[in-house]
Amino acid sequence: MTKDELKRRVCETIDRHRDEILRIGETILHQPETGFKETRTARLVAETMERLGLRPQTGLAITGVKGRLAGKAPGPTLAILGELDGLTVSGHPHADPATGAAHACGHNAQVAAMLGAAMGIAGAGAMEELAGALVFFAVPAEELIEIEERLELVRQKKLGFMLGKQELIRLGHFDDVELAMMFHAASSAEFPTVGRMVDSSNGAVVKRIRFLGRAAHAGGRPHMGVNALSAALLAIGAIHAQRESFREADTVRIHPIITKGGDAVSVVPAEVKIETFVRGATLEAILAANRKVDRCLRAGAMAMGAEVEIETIPAYLPQHNDRELGEVYGANLAALFGAGQFPIGGHKTGSTDMGDLGHLMPVIHPYLSGGEGSTHADDWKIVDRERIFITSAKLLAMTAIDLLHGDAAPARQVLARHKPALSKAAYLEMQAQLFATERYRAEG
Ligand SMILES: [Zn+2]
Repeated sequence: MTKDELKRRVCETIDRHRDEILRIGETILHQPETGFKETRTARLVAETMERLGLRPQTGLAITGVKGRLAGKAPGPTLAILGELDGLTVSGHPHADPATGAAHACGHNAQVAAMLGAAMGIAGAGAMEELAGALVFFAVPAEELIEIEERLELVRQKKLGFMLGKQELIRLGHFDDVELAMMFHAASSAEFPTVGRMVDSSNGAVVKRIRFLGRAAHAGGRPHMGVNALSAALLAIGAIHAQRESFREADTVRIHPIITKGGDAVSVVPAEVKIETFVRGATLEAILAANRKVDRCLRAGAMAMGAEVEIETIPAYLPQHNDRELGEVYGANLAALFGAGQFPIGGHKTGSTDMGDLGHLMPVIHPYLSGGEGSTHADDWKIVDRERIFITSAKLLAMTAIDLLHGDAAPARQVLARHKPALSKAAYLEMQAQLFATERYRAEG
């Protein structure tokens, strides 16, 4: 069977499963769960994979689910990923009233598309025409939220890292994968074309900061207190003063929030907590900006005679998309929507843990428009359901066919050319070194 005939059969099979794919996407939308707690979503994935004969492994990095289909001959293993988690946006119309969890980033569509691609490939018997293997992988916790809770899991040794792909890498669940791809939904206001792939996006570290002062009566005896809130505000002001020192090319983003501002208005704040990301285009840029942030935090404490505790946690590595893989995906998009609808290039200042995986193997993280509002906000919604749930599945399946058809020559070619930025061992060592804690106390 020719590659094009096979693609047509797989796409027809996906069309026949249209209602089921949409139902999966909607079900997940209405049962949002945050990272490492996606138990109901994981169960839905496992049941669907079971039915398709993928014999899924479950409970990987707590909630991950991985199914596999083998081709007719040996060859490279390509993974299609879908992220299981929502994030917390309590004002979102589909937010869980109890937890505030909401699918405000469209990850529900990723899982539907990944399973849709599996339905197409398995249902059309496509593996008979492909070499190597396809892994269908529902991965936990792409969003770095609920930091306190996850750190507790790290302390209890239930997690090694705070994000799903990092943890799956650590546990060896990507050891048998050589290339990986996924898609991400985007708002149609973000770019004018059907799809888009950037060359790169920012990485980040997370900071948890605690300023410690001394409580006192805020009206009667403020001179006896040490105001931790003032120390924190001075530190935030000092961080803002750094902005002109960042190079444009490094696309540094630092966005602190105060998560605890004091206990009672009549008490001089004795404990104030801040969280921030320090983002940048390269690891060097992130670490340089991070050193400046640490200096600013100490400066706030020094000015007020307070103490500051600084915790630095590895978050996302900068993401680099593989152009050659992206061009294969783009050619399929062009077949469906015409040329010029999938520009490749540029840099994005958000972050994803696909960046971590991209340091070990060739990956792509393309965007498909068809959403409305802003991702991570309460007005985000998927409008073009056909494109975001169904066409997305077809594009992933068609790209998989291109890469693995016959003797999987295109996938082998990508692998032969690609030089991983890090070995798994070097990656794990670097991540471990990024964890740091510092305590600074101002003198008298
Ligand atoms: Zn996302």
